[in-house]
Amino acid sequence: MARDPRYDVLFEPLEIGPVVTRNRFYQVPHCNGLGYRDPTANAWLRKTKAEGGWGVVCTEQVEIHHTSDINPFIELRLWDDSDIPMLARIADKIHEHEALAGIELAYNGLNGPNFYGREVPMAPTAFPIASFTYDPVSARTMDLEDIRNLRRWHKAAALRGKQAGYDIVYLYAGHALGFFHHFLSRRYNFRSDCYGGTLENRARILKEILIETKEAVGDTCAVPCRLSISELMGSAGLEKAETEDLVGLLAELPDLWDFCLAGWENDSQTSRFAEEGFQEEHLDGLKQLTTRPVVGVGRYTSPDRMASLVRSGKLDLIGCARPSIADPFLPAKVERGDVDDIRECIGCNICVSGDFTMSPIRCTQNPTMGEEWRKGWHPEYIRKRESDKPVLLVGAGPAGLEAAQALGKRRYEVTLAEATRELGGRVSRECKLPGLEAWSRVRDYRVQQLHKLPNVEVYLESELDANFLLEGEFPRIAIATGSRWRRDGVGHQWTTPIAMAPGTRIATPDDLMDGNFPDGKSVLVWDDDHYYMAGVLAEALRRRGCSVNYVTPATEVSSWTKNTMEQFEIHKRLLTMGVKIHLSKNLMSVDEDHAVLSCMFTGAEARLATDVTALVTSRSPVNELYDELRARSEEWADAGIESVAVFGDAEAPATIAHAVYAGRRYAEELDAPPIGDAVPFKRELAELAPLV
Ligand code: ADP
Ligand code: SF4
Repeated sequence: MARDPRYDVLFEPLEIGPVVTRNRFYQVPHCNGLGYRDPTANAWLRKTKAEGGWGVVCTEQVEIHHTSDINPFIELRLWDDSDIPMLARIADKIHEHEALAGIELAYNGLNGPNFYGREVPMAPTAFPIASFTYDPVSARTMDLEDIRNLRRWHKAAALRGKQAGYDIVYLYAGHALGFFHHFLSRRYNFRSDCYGGTLENRARILKEILIETKEAVGDTCAVPCRLSISELMGSAGLEKAETEDLVGLLAELPDLWDFCLAGWENDSQTSRFAEEGFQEEHLDGLKQLTTRPVVGVGRYTSPDRMASLVRSGKLDLIGCARPSIADPFLPAKVERGDVDDIRECIGCNICVSGDFTMSPIRCTQNPTMGEEWRKGWHPEYIRKRESDKPVLLVGAGPAGLEAAQALGKRRYEVTLAEATRELGGRVSRECKLPGLEAWSRVRDYRVQQLHKLPNVEVYLESELDANFLLEGEFPRIAIATGSRWRRDGVGHQWTTPIAMAPGTRIATPDDLMDGNFPDGKSVLVWDDDHYYMAGVLAEALRRRGCSVNYVTPATEVSSWTKNTMEQFEIHKRLLTMGVKIHLSKNLMSVDEDHAVLSCMFTGAEARLATDVTALVTSRSPVNELYDELRARSEEWADAGIESVAVFGDAEAPATIAHAVYAGRRYAEELDAPPIGDAVPFKRELAELAPLV
């Protein structure tokens, strides 16, 4: 198919300072949990985006100097010349596919506790460190010599970036992450010298370094500025009116403006809390203030929306982090007219959790993300089948669907059997819960792919049992039958069932999703799962008019969602909706009309009246079919069965991203040569220093 002319505008080249991007698809800097620990995996990730058609592909933030590190995070480093080869490998890989390579230089200052380098952090004004973990470390105020030093270090880093082959060398003044932002913001800058006070003074260091960077590398490199439009806190922080003045003040100095909004957690909100393009209204009027190209983000996945943003003159370049993670080939698909094949980001921020847990990035929609080099997986290609033996997949949740479409693309004969009338498993159920609508995209992309694969047959309302499977049509059987929420309270806190008196009304998230939630005016939601489900359930029950008590043994609501940057918003929403929150409380027992809670610290017990207790603790695998097949393994030979596998939630319940990954892994490894006990992925080892 050919490109739809409506999207032509997205393929017009554009000058950015001395360089030209081939199109308007711009992968803004984003973290990935690979960083300096896994530089080659990082390089392959970026290479894959370039291959997928992004005109510009940037690194994550790159630390420029040892006096500011954000350990334990592992973002790239460019502290001295020894870091250049690592950065150069990334730029080289991006260039292999004709994209421009961008590097985002960062000096965290107030955000970096310097646990690695043990230097005293520096900031415009002395404050305790503004990290995510309230580290007991303070920064000291920079004096004029410190400022001169920092300018020198920044220039040296820009030169190293150029030497490493980058075409775009960023100044990072956004997201409240780094010294430029701290100097600009009245919230952090209380200086009385020429670097504090008026906007002109607060912007002085940004202007000086812009000029110096352009002098140093501007002959061949574009020098953009990434700036937060507003801190969304009125006159207490950076305001839009100031940003407008700032754009005027810096005039045409930057070669590009990359606008973001407030802190990272605001800019990268999940679909549960913010619509696609929610930042747009804040962009109004900014482009008119500059002749330089403007890039902005909004979790954009629709090429129509992208084209209209460019056409209407709101943006020149469509900035994407998450949409480029979910589908590194988004531009290529628009280009060749395959827009229905775009794997749209669902806005879940599992990718962000890679950074927060310092583990290789994973994506719910794109199981190959982060595995391009480690495992040789590719988001669009998968090797051809290596045998003619058909495969039966049981269960069409995210795991089964991913395996079916990936095996289908390998050209295996695949049969996918699903017990219910609907494909999608947990995704189809959960997307009906408040705020999770976009999760249906996990199903929709895969079902769309299956439609194009004549070698995959799908059977709905086909609950298979062991007798059927042992009748012997399928040499390969894979079980992806999912999981069910536990009803006995076993979870992180309790490894034995919670005491429940007869007659108590107990419910699980499955009851709500099945439409079987027991009647009752007041509901106690016990969250021992700590991810999103209990919060979503509390929200759904409030919408029904129930009074809701949310109880958790943790010290925070939905505590794991700190890793998806949602924790604050979830707590706020529950409070706003009138949910009563009980933190650090254990659920000791449940009775007909009350539950007994105990303080996690003192053990002091108290009764809480409730009609229904909803247990959100953990899920049990639905693996009876698998267990029975294994128990009857002596019948396999007669039935011609060679292998029976189990994967996804049916093996061990986890996130949707885990299930999709497990489905992909089954498909990738089918008929692959056995590797025994070898590590099943490539990794890089630190080079030992000579012993002296
Ligand atoms: P996962 O996240 O591992 O993909 P899900 O729970 O989302 O798991 O999906 C499992 C799917 O398997 C559900 O749609 C369920 O209806 C289906 N299923 C469970 N048991 C059977 C069975 N015996 N035969 C066919 N389908 C089944
Ligand atoms: Fe989008 Fe979720 Fe993938 Fe991140 S993990 S890119 S938010 S689908």
